[in-house]
Amino acid sequence: MVVTDGDSAFDIVIAGGGMIGSSLALALAPLGLKIAVVEAVPRGGGQQPSFDDRSTALSRSSQKFFSAIDLWSGIESSATPIRHIHVSDRGRFGFSHLDAGEQGVEALGYVVINRVLGEVLQAGIDNATGVKLLCPAKIVSVYNDVDDVRVTVEEQVDQHRELRCRLLVAADGANSKVRSMIGLSATQKPYDQHAVIGNLLPEKTHNNIAYERFTPNGPIAMLPVADDRAAFVWTMDPQEASRVGALSDVEFTQELQSAFGYRLGQFSRIGKRAAYPLSLSKASALVARRSVVIGNAAHGLHPVAGQGFNLGLRDVAALAESLADAQRESGPAFDPGNPDTLGDYAEWRKSDQQKLVGFTDGLVKLFASQLRPLKTLRNLGMWGFDLVPGFRGLFARHTMGLAGRLPRLSRGLPLK
Ligand SMILES: Cc1cc2nc3c(=O)[nH]c(=O)nc-3n(C[C@H](O)[C@H](O)[C@H](O)COP(=O)(O)OP(=O)(O)OC[C@H]3O[C@@H](n4cnc5c(N)ncnc54)[C@H](O)[C@@H]3O)c2cc1C
Repeated sequence: MVVTDGDSAFDIVIAGGGMIGSSLALALAPLGLKIAVVEAVPRGGGQQPSFDDRSTALSRSSQKFFSAIDLWSGIESSATPIRHIHVSDRGRFGFSHLDAGEQGVEALGYVVINRVLGEVLQAGIDNATGVKLLCPAKIVSVYNDVDDVRVTVEEQVDQHRELRCRLLVAADGANSKVRSMIGLSATQKPYDQHAVIGNLLPEKTHNNIAYERFTPNGPIAMLPVADDRAAFVWTMDPQEASRVGALSDVEFTQELQSAFGYRLGQFSRIGKRAAYPLSLSKASALVARRSVVIGNAAHGLHPVAGQGFNLGLRDVAALAESLADAQRESGPAFDPGNPDTLGDYAEWRKSDQQKLVGFTDGLVKLFASQLRPLKTLRNLGMWGFDLVPGFRGLFARHTMGLAGRLPRLSRGLPLK
């Protein structure tokens, strides 16, 4: 059965109401367009894959983005500032650090729990004018024609709805199906690594320090979170991940402690753990006819540098700005699916995406390698990183998401 209730024509349809799709809908709300967000997984019950128990390190540009769309006040109370980043290589002499004071900023970034961010974004969608949420509803087919896009949505088994729009945005994650529905392919490179995540109570206060520790089995990130707890992301090969997954909480804590060391004292009261398979994915192009891919649907990164969502949020800010500019220039003739507007957007985002994909992939290879020349480079890199002030400043700007041509929202400025 195909439902047609008259409310099926939109300016923009966003496939996926996860962290990126929801952020885009809220960024676009001031443009006064008619927007539909289609999300496959029902709210509540803790099933939403984007809003789970992971922690996300938000860069300064992401914090500015949320300030600019008036959401930061809702996020801030549960966000923990990162004032210092400490990077070390287990069993080696060198270590590197970044300091907020040295960079002249109040914080290098902020850690939020995805579930909490999800609650703020979902409340924002419920209150936004012109934004309609279809959930649970799954996009099952797309026909992107010259003048419009027809999107078939499955709301229940055997109950479909047809939507029409002038621009379709695929924000349906790294395994995006909508990406292929609009005619784009993607490369996927599995890293043969899993990220085991959770949080715990360290004996010593975290002092707002984020640790990244490279060990022979893979990197461990330990992020400061609320209530003096620390959130860990421990990367390891899949066999190790299933072995440690079967350990009791006490056994797992002992293994994590021995891999991370005692900088934070004794670990205790470990929370729920989960494991994620890691891969690098990249769409063959960022735009197709009357359609765009953003966030993980455009690029899925290894979480080693904590940059995937931050990069995706800069896609969101740039797309919103490209559309706002086109709307201002075209007046009533504004067409959000105009190929020139989409082409400008793709050109703008190319460099930031390429740099971060290359940097993250290079970091994974560098620290996974047991080859002597790479080990030496790694040690030199850590020393050089600390000793060459210009390099550290440049790295800090990238980590904070402040390098390159930044869209208005990523600078904390309103869209128009
Ligand atoms: C362990 C780990 C730690 C991380 N830490 C960080 C960090 O510290 N900092 C950082 O910046 N990034 C981090 N990331 C990356 C970050 O989580 C992702 O970049 C982000 O979740 C991408 O969001 P997204 O909305 O693009 O995709 P997703 O989160 O995958 O959301 C896609 C949404 O689309 C929906 N969907 C899928 N198919 C359809 C369909 N056909 N119809 C309708 N809806 C559909 C899904 O249900 C989902 O809600 C981390 C990732 C991992 C795995």
